[in-house]
Amino acid sequence: MTVRAIVTYPAEILEQECEPVTVFDKKLVKLLNDMYDTMIEFDGVGLAAPQIGINKQIAVVDIDDESGTIELINPEILETSGEDLGVEGCLSFPGLYGEVTRPYYVKVKALDRKGRPFVIEAEDYLARAIQHEIDHLHGILFTSKVSRYLKEEELEEVEQND
Ligand SMILES: [Zn+2]
Repeated sequence: MTVRAIVTYPAEILEQECEPVTVFDKKLVKLLNDMYDTMIEFDGVGLAAPQIGINKQIAVVDIDDESGTIELINPEILETSGEDLGVEGCLSFPGLYGEVTRPYYVKVKALDRKGRPFVIEAEDYLARAIQHEIDHLHGILFTSKVSRYLKEEELEEVEQND
């Protein structure tokens, strides 16, 4: 297991469009495994490659529910619907939480670690986590979508819920 260092804001790589993955090799598998270990180590529900300094369209999401770990390579949003307001944080912004409005439902096309295409549908918090990570791959940070930051006393409640 290899835990990689998290790139925190401000950093140029966090605001860049990432390159699509074209080679599906052992190096990619190792990177995905490291991204998973890093996400777990830092208690994240998702991690995008630029957050560990890699300019590639790769993300992992795991909100600790029955969906398990979702690996998204070159993901593309096919469809969204509804609207949902929820609290988000980001490993690249330690201690910062804010309310973000996003579609409630998302349908995404992506490739798996072997380069095989698949489609995933998600709702609610999983949809939120997936959209947050896909945004990272296009250099979009959640802070650009926050309508209200949480105050210190509200943060304590969020942390207790974790
Ligand atoms: Zn993030």
